[in-house]
Amino acid sequence: MKKEILNALKERISRQNWESWFLDFDIKKIENNHVVFEVGNIFIKDRLEQKFGKTISKVLRDFFGKEYSYEFTYREIKTNDSRDKQEGPLVKKKPLLITPLNPRYTFQNLIVGEFNRFAYNAFLEASKNPGYYNPIFLYSGVGLGKTHLAQALGNYVLETDPDMKVAYLTSEEFMNEMIISIKKGTTEEFREKYRKKADILIIDDIQFLIGKKAAQIELFHTFNAIHEAGKQIIICSDRTPNELKDFHSRMISRFQMGLVVKIEKPSKFDLFKIGKKILELKEAELDDKIIEYLVQVYDTPRVLHGALLKLIAYKNLFGEMNLSIAQSLIPNYRTDSKTLTENIIVILSEIFECSPEEMLSSKRTKNVSFARKIGMYYLSKYLGLSTREIGKIFNKSHSSVVQNLKQIENSIKDNNLAIKNYLKDLDKKTKRFAEGKSV
Ligand code: ADP
Ligand code: MG
Repeated sequence: MKKEILNALKERISRQNWESWFLDFDIKKIENNHVVFEVGNIFIKDRLEQKFGKTISKVLRDFFGKEYSYEFTYREIKTNDSRDKQEGPLVKKKPLLITPLNPRYTFQNLIVGEFNRFAYNAFLEASKNPGYYNPIFLYSGVGLGKTHLAQALGNYVLETDPDMKVAYLTSEEFMNEMIISIKKGTTEEFREKYRKKADILIIDDIQFLIGKKAAQIELFHTFNAIHEAGKQIIICSDRTPNELKDFHSRMISRFQMGLVVKIEKPSKFDLFKIGKKILELKEAELDDKIIEYLVQVYDTPRVLHGALLKLIAYKNLFGEMNLSIAQSLIPNYRTDSKTLTENIIVILSEIFECSPEEMLSSKRTKNVSFARKIGMYYLSKYLGLSTREIGKIFNKSHSSVVQNLKQIENSIKDNNLAIKNYLKDLDKKTKRFAEGKSV
């Protein structure tokens, strides 16, 4: 019955609205003339009543032939910790789908070009013949499709042989699980789980283990056990094996003894095709001119993907999209030839809701001068600019720069979390910008 009610509702709501508001929407229970809906997004939950309250009442009345009341509840996101508890003994699951694979990450959905052909062929081959190249070490800059390719192999293998046990996890998840097992005294089970039961082990983002010796060693043993058993191992990394500084040389040479493959940056032409593919998968349409424009602004699939989602969301909400709207939503930093520093000012002004001009003026409003200080600190500590250079950028005397830096430094020492978070946010956004920009 739940399904019928949802269908009745769907009929009364435009497709656009349905896709924007009801995708993570379900019926939890129906009792005593009352329907409890379940919503996976708390922001959406709070607005559903206002936007669709009347329609929902009417649909329920029509459906049941009398008045039904209803409420929305929020379904909390399952965290990693609760994962274990929820697996009751009766739930029959594939035991080793550690992180469910993203069904969208398939070979079919991957655009192949010069930039990734070699890696693609290696992975396709390996999924037909697991263990043949062992290990496969895949590396590239961020956002170029490593996770997609690695999971495509997992999806392919599971599709062709559902009995195969594929374990995909990031090295961070591996480490966390290891720590939990140490605390709970279940290290043996943890070891068994990967060493004995996985047919294919995919460890993503291995670089996370830099500086984490204990986890490196544990992974090394896991690696050896799986390798000896002739099972497939895949490692993804944002750098070459040799650049995994502080990994033991024995480990590095293990990583190199199979196949080391790289994904390059796609050409503009390939990136365009990737953009088309992303739209196709989202069942969304945008003018080719807009994709061409985005491809000029960005040069990795990940940032392109993010930009497309932003435009699609806008289009769904406001019902229109064209090149000039796209350009205003996604300014072209390149043709504006702004430097990284200038962009940091822009990013800061967005975070602190003031204008870049204000940031560079002598204005002393609280948020403006705070934003300025954070910017100065970032340029100094994260990007290594000298206090003189920073003074020039902000039009401030050398001594006032020094004073500002000290203030922030002291707050950080006092464990001021807000400042730390601002810096983190700024760093993330700056990197994202630099990523899209660098050659
Ligand atoms: P990485 O793991 O290297 O950081 P991801 O695999 O997360 O990169 O890729 C980022 C996004 O770009 C994903 O949404 C992915 O589906 C998409 N993508 C990357 N490469 C391609 C490609 N060749 N064809 C289609 N989509 C791609
Ligand atoms: Mg990745």
